[in-house]
Amino acid sequence: MSLGEFDLIARYFDRPVRRAALGIGDDCALLTPLPGMQLAVSCDMLVEGRHFLSTVDPERLGHKALAVNLSDLAACGAEPLAFTLALALPRADEAFLAGFSRGLLALADASGCELIGGDTTRGPLNICISVFGQIPVPVKGTGALLRSGARPGDDLYVSGTLGDARLALEVFRGTVSLDGTSLDAVRQAMELPQPRLALGMALRGMASSAIDVSDGLLGDLAHVLRRSGVGAVLEVDTLPLSDVMRAQPLSLQRLCALSGGDDYELLFTAPAERAAAVAAAGAAAGVAVTRIGRITEHLDAGDAQLQLIDAQGRVVIHQAPCFDHFKT
Ligand code: ADP
Ligand code: MG
Repeated sequence: MSLGEFDLIARYFDRPVRRAALGIGDDCALLTPLPGMQLAVSCDMLVEGRHFLSTVDPERLGHKALAVNLSDLAACGAEPLAFTLALALPRADEAFLAGFSRGLLALADASGCELIGGDTTRGPLNICISVFGQIPVPVKGTGALLRSGARPGDDLYVSGTLGDARLALEVFRGTVSLDGTSLDAVRQAMELPQPRLALGMALRGMASSAIDVSDGLLGDLAHVLRRSGVGAVLEVDTLPLSDVMRAQPLSLQRLCALSGGDDYELLFTAPAERAAAVAAAGAAAGVAVTRIGRITEHLDAGDAQLQLIDAQGRVVIHQAPCFDHFKT
């Protein structure tokens, strides 16, 4: 006998809640925000063939579906509380559900974010998660990290390394070949991104702006520049790269690191006098933080708010587009 909708929910997703006032099983879940806190809310959808390959390990898919949402909380400096899961499945495939829920709930437990509800329907595989986090109500610049706060003179930083997920994608597309160990490493970056939650929370009151890198560094940086009304100089030879990436031709390194996508690292700005505090925040969060440029005044009209320079100070031309669902 195949598994019904409600048995499926009970078996794979219904877990006791600790932080929420009410979890799965009623018409609504209930959250009780602490006094002095704001709810941070974000939603991300993953569509088969668009965001993941049909061959992906279900456990890794479960991890990634939540990780990309937690990355949005991290970018705002929010502490995770809870999430909902809307799931369309072609069939009640128990091997898939067991792996998917294992990966999903392991990351949920590790990040203190509990599953409090959702919706389940038959249809083409589609995973939509909404996350809820909390952030103190802002007092003197200590609230949520926004895209709009970058100021001329600020340093520009990124966490972790860039481009490995794109490199893995190029291997699957057949444009690049890697040895087995190198492929495992970049595949891990693509399939098991680590949301930078501790870093995001540590940057509250320290960073002037932040965003998570999901569509490629240049595209996401452009969002910050537009929202902040500033320009930037990006020092391309300072971009943090993995050892596997460093072994690739320079043109491929730049394509992956600048336009890659799926990095889920934090891109943020901070006033120059906070450099030591930023380094300490990275060390405390256990994640590398690298200065990759600086914010400048908004230039004249036109869209060239970003200048790329190399280690010799020469202007670098880079034209590969960043990811856009309706352009690429
Ligand atoms: P309703 O019809 O009131 O929208 P459902 O019958 O669809 O509720 O769902 C029953 C309960 O199971 C609800 O509490 C809902 O939040 C939860 N739920 C449904 N699908 C999922 C899922 N994929 N993950 C977690 N909880 C789910
Ligand atoms: Mg109902």
